[in-house]
Amino acid sequence: MQGPGSNHPGASGARHAPVRREPSRKTGSPHLCVGRLVDERVTRTCQFVGSELPSQPILRGGHVRVTTAFNKLLALDGASVTGVSFTPDGVVVEIRARCRRPVCPCGWRGRAIYDRSRRRWRHLDLGASKLFIEAEIRRLDCSVCGRVRTEDVPWARPAARHTRDFEDVVAWLVQRCDKTSVAALMRTSWATVARIVARVVVDHLDHSRLEGLRRIGVDEVSWRKGHRYLTVVADHDRAGAVVWAGEGHDHSVLEQFYDELGAEGCAQLEAVSLDMGKAYKKATDNKAPTARQCIDPFHVIKLANQAIDSARRWAWNLERAKIAPGRRVPGRPPKGAPPSPRKKARWVKHTRWALVKDPANLSDQQLDVLHDLRRNRSVLYRCWQLKEALRDLYRLQNPHDAESHLDWWLAWASRSRIPAFVKLSRTIRANRDRITGAVELGLSNATLEGLNSKTRLINHRGYGHHSATALIAMIYLCSGGITIQLPTQR
Ligand SMILES: [Zn+2]
Repeated sequence: MQGPGSNHPGASGARHAPVRREPSRKTGSPHLCVGRLVDERVTRTCQFVGSELPSQPILRGGHVRVTTAFNKLLALDGASVTGVSFTPDGVVVEIRARCRRPVCPCGWRGRAIYDRSRRRWRHLDLGASKLFIEAEIRRLDCSVCGRVRTEDVPWARPAARHTRDFEDVVAWLVQRCDKTSVAALMRTSWATVARIVARVVVDHLDHSRLEGLRRIGVDEVSWRKGHRYLTVVADHDRAGAVVWAGEGHDHSVLEQFYDELGAEGCAQLEAVSLDMGKAYKKATDNKAPTARQCIDPFHVIKLANQAIDSARRWAWNLERAKIAPGRRVPGRPPKGAPPSPRKKARWVKHTRWALVKDPANLSDQQLDVLHDLRRNRSVLYRCWQLKEALRDLYRLQNPHDAESHLDWWLAWASRSRIPAFVKLSRTIRANRDRITGAVELGLSNATLEGLNSKTRLINHRGYGHHSATALIAMIYLCSGGITIQLPTQR
C-alpha cells in the first residue's frame, strides 16, 4: 500500500475505479476486492467513523478484503464484519457478535434461545452516506427475569436502533446546542434525539449520586404555560449538580425525593436551601426534621425586587393624586419651573431597570436616573438603598455579622413608611432564622441561583418540551454532571 501522499500513477483516477469481484482464497466464494478505492476511503473517512488510522499498511499486493477494511474503520467492540453492501439507503455493514452465547440485559448468560431475527442499527455516517449495521439478534428465555428478553449487544443500548457511538455523539451535541440543530446535523428526527437523550441518561446517570448528600438545594422551575412546574434538587457540594427532578411543585413531590433518599440519607442531611413557600418546608419538616432549613438568597432578593415594583406603583399613584383636576394649561411651561406632577408620574414609570439591576451592571443612562432620584430625595431612592442593604447581607466578610446586619435592616425597613418594604420586613422577620442560616452555612454563594435560568435555557433550547419526562432527561444530561466520551476520545 502506498500512503495518502503517494505519487502512484493510478492514484488520481483510483476514486472512480470499479469494484471487482474475485474468488476468495479461503472459501472459493466471490468477495469484494476494492484495491485502491478502499485505500483512499480509509484515509479519507476514518475520522467520520471514529476509529484510528491503521498503523500497518492494510493493502498488500494492491488488494484488501472489504470486510477487513470495515473492521479497521468501525472498530466495533465484540463484533466482526462479515459483509458490506451498498444500498440506496446507504452502506449496510453485516456483522457477527464474537460471543456466541447470548447475554440478557440483566447479565444472565444462557443458551435458551427463544427465536432469532435480523436487526439494523444506524451508525455514524460514512462521509455523505448513511451507515447501517446489520446483525442477527436473538431473544432468550431468561430464567432470572422469568420472561423472554432480547439479548444485549455490545455495540448498542437495549431497545435502541442506533449504535452507542451514534447515540454518544448525539448526546454530546445536545449538551452544547439545541435539539433541532442536532437533528438536522445527524439526519434524524427531533423525537429520535429525545429518545436517545433518555437512553443515554439512564446509561450514564450515577446511581450513587444520592449517597452522602449533605447540603442540598430545592427549587421549582416553571416549564410550560398553565402553571406546570418541576421540582429540582441540586447538590451544593458538587457545584449545584442536579441529583433529582420530579414533576409538580407540591409537598408530595419533594417527599418522593426524601423517600428515595431513605431515612438514613435524610438523617445525614445537614442543610436544605428552599424557597419561602410552604410546600417544600412541609415536606422537609415531615421527612428530614434534623436538617437545617435555609432560604435561598435568590428568593430573598426576588422579594426585594418585587417590593420595589409595588413601591414604584405606589409612588406613581401618589404623584398622579397630585395632578389637579380640570384642564391642562396649554403651552410650554416657563423656564426653571418645577416639573409638573403629570411629568413626574410619567417619569416614575421609566425607573424600573435602574432600581432592580445590579449597580455594577448599570448603564450610564440608568446611573443618571439613580442620581436624579437621589437629588430629588425621591422615595424610590430609599427603596433602592433598602434593597442594596439587604443584598449586603450576602456580601458580609464575616458570616457571624448576619444577625446584627439583619436586625439593623429590619429596624430601618419597618420604619421606612414605604408600605411594600414594611410588608417585606414582616415576611423577612417571620423567616429570619432560615435567612441567616443560609449566610452562616455558606450557602450564600447561591449555586442554585443560576439553576433556574439554566433550566429555562435548556427548555428553550428544546423549543419547549411536550412532556416533563423529556425535560427531566435533558436537565440530568446538561446539569447532572454527566460526562459523555466521544468515540474519538476513547
Ligand atoms: Zn434476564
